[in-house]
Parts: sequence; C-alpha cells; structure tokens
Amino acid sequence: MPGGVNSAARAFGAVGGEPIVFERGDGAYLFDIDGNKYIDYIGSWGPMIFGHQWPPISEAVHAAVDRGTSFGAPTVAENELAELVIEAVPSVEMVRLVNSGTEATMSAIRLARGFTGRDIVIKFAGNYHGHVDSLLVAAGSAAATLAVPDSPGVTAGTSQDTMVLNYNDCEMLAGAFKTHGDRIAAVILEPVCGNMGCVTPTKEFLTALRSLTQDSGAVLIFDEVMCGFRVARGGAQSLFGISPDLTTLGKIVGGGLPLGVFGGKREIMQHVLPAGKVFQAGTLSGNPIATAAGIAMLRSLKEMPPYERLEQLAERLAVGLSKAAGDAGIEHCVNRVGSMLTLFFNPGPVTDWESASKCDTKMFSKYFWGLIERGVYMPCSQFEALFISNAHTEEDIDHTIAMAAETLKSIA
Ligand SMILES: *Cc1c(COP(=O)(O)O)cnc(C)c1O
Repeated sequence: MPGGVNSAARAFGAVGGEPIVFERGDGAYLFDIDGNKYIDYIGSWGPMIFGHQWPPISEAVHAAVDRGTSFGAPTVAENELAELVIEAVPSVEMVRLVNSGTEATMSAIRLARGFTGRDIVIKFAGNYHGHVDSLLVAAGSAAATLAVPDSPGVTAGTSQDTMVLNYNDCEMLAGAFKTHGDRIAAVILEPVCGNMGCVTPTKEFLTALRSLTQDSGAVLIFDEVMCGFRVARGGAQSLFGISPDLTTLGKIVGGGLPLGVFGGKREIMQHVLPAGKVFQAGTLSGNPIATAAGIAMLRSLKEMPPYERLEQLAERLAVGLSKAAGDAGIEHCVNRVGSMLTLFFNPGPVTDWESASKCDTKMFSKYFWGLIERGVYMPCSQFEALFISNAHTEEDIDHTIAMAAETLKSIA
C-alpha cells in the first residue's frame, strides 16, 4: 500500500514518523498491536460519537450479517434510514444513500449542475469535500499538510469550473456573484469546518451565502459529512437556523460502516435518475450491513441524545488545554463547536485558511508525539479537529489535560 496506508489522512506525513497499527477499540480507547492503550480523540475521524463497540450498533450489524450481506435490490432498512435522516435534518425532504462522503459530494455537485444547467461551483479555501477531482483544490487537512494543494492527475479542464474563495469573506462572495452570478451552479461549504482545524462561520457569512444563492438561483450545498449529527442531531443547519438546498452526510450516519447520504429539497432531488435525468447509481449503495449500523446510530442519537454531555466534556477539555498552553507560555487559541475542537499553535483568531496556516506546525508535531508517548491519540495534523465521544469520562478528559500540560511544558 502506498505509504503503508489506505487513506492519506492516516499517514503521519505532517508530524513525521510511522503510523500506529491498531488491534481493537473499546469505548473511548484504542489498543495497538504492541499492547499500548490510548485515549482516542479521532474516533475514526468522526463516526464513533458513542465510542467503539457501541452495543446497539454491534448487535444490529451481527443481526444484519445473518440476513445476507448484499442484495443489490431495495430493502425495508434503506427506507427506515432515509426516514430517520429526513426526520433529523431540517432541510432534507428526499435522500439517496451512497457509500462514502466523497460519493455524496460528487453526486450533489453533479445534481446541482444538472438542475441549474450551469457550470461554476464555488468552494472555500481550507474546506475539504472528499477526493472529488473538481473539489480537490485548496482542500485543507490531508491535502494541505502533505503540501499538495492541487493533486497531479486533476486536469486544468476539470478544475476550471471550480472557483476558490476565502471562508468567512462576505465581500469576496458578493463580488463573485456580481461578476458570475448567472453561471454559478452551486456553492459548497463545511458549515462548521473541521478540515483546516475547527473553524466556525460568522452569522453574516451564512446569511450572505443563503441570500446570494437564493437570488441568483444557485444551489447552496452544506457539506455536513463531518459536522452532521456531530454538532447537533440536525447538524450545523439546525444549530444556525439556515436551510441549505442540498446536504451531504457521511461519517456518523454510517455508524462506522461505509455509508454516505446526499439529500435536500424534493424539487431538486427529483432530478436524480430514475425520477429525473441526472445519473447516479451504486452496486453496494444502501448496503444492508451499513444501513443496519446507520439505523442503530440514528436511533441512539434520537433516544439518548449525547449532545449536552458532549458539550460539557468538550468545554472542560477546551478550557484545560488552553490553560495548559497558557501556563507553558505558548501562543495559542482554541476553536470549538460542540464536541469538535482544535488547539491552534497560533495566537488567532483563526477564521479562515490564511489565519489557520500561520500555525507553528513544528510545535504541533512535538505536541502530537508527546501525547502519543503519554497514551493520548490526537489527530496527526494541526489542521484537523479532534472529536470527543460519549464514552469519554471526566477522568479521561482530566488525564488528557494533565498529559497535555506535561507535554506542552516540555516543548515550550
Ligand atoms: C470526511 C469528509 C468528506 C469525505 O468523506 P469520505 O467518506 O472520506 O469520502 C467530505 N466532506 C467532509 C466535510 C469531510 O469531513
């Protein structure tokens, strides 16, 4: 495997050294093949909001396996999952299930172009939308830390209809719509960004996005693959009270199995084949094992919402990490929304890619390895958010803060 990994984000390219090989996960903990135990703040890059081996998901998956692993035909479970998504996410009236976040954004972009008959897609620097060719421009985290702003193999022709603007820059956005308004098919963004570290949109930015797209007939796409079901059950759109036209989901919605969703307004979704003409298909889409896990996850989120507890744990960690960095005399700032947070080695404020990219990434690497040595597994890049799960305890958080304080003092 190139680099020894099956996803570039897993290589320790940004921090140096070899990635750790894991044997199992249990609750808030990971165990590597050498028998070391870590408190896990990656949670499979988001999905494990209830921790590893959450019993309702394990049981649902076992039961689904006994009914057959794939039929390539409709099932009741697909409909159940679709209903759970539609019920939870305010703007979504119809969905299609796919196999990953990348597939969801790729399909949403094609749909937006097919629906509007226009070409241009606007994205924001530092936002990541999966490895879709036309979106692999200024794509944050893995792309940024590996210093591949544009991937070889993405042709000029493919990326020429992608326009990259600055996150939270209302003026730049208004300018783009003034000049190209009638050619813009869609604007896609992370409505809480995790892929340049945790960065939040301003109210003005969200309002401008909604009104400019509405006035020009462009499709507003919220890429909630990371923040959906994470910052609230209804995602960032319910938190901020903004209704996008299309929404993409992944990570949590699959409960740790390969599953993505794109959905939105009926008027637009009706253009997807076979109801409409925009092509979309998938041999394993709506796979019975993945949908069983997704249903168990969304039912759990509905029946025992973890969000209040996550908020308290995350606030405790944010305050503790900030104090630890302050006590060590290290310039820093912490951005947090719900259980997503980033300690930036940068006095801040971090509001876009430009301000995020000024971080002391050498300091981050030392911080990362110091924590690994002390049994804490954090994201291996400054430009990622960490995730807290409902399996974490106050003791885990306090132990993490103590280990961070020790590390930060030793590297200051
Ligand atoms: C992870 C992510 C994707 C891609 O999802 P995959 O399942 O890795 O293909 C897309 N958008 C956002 C915001 C993500 O965080």
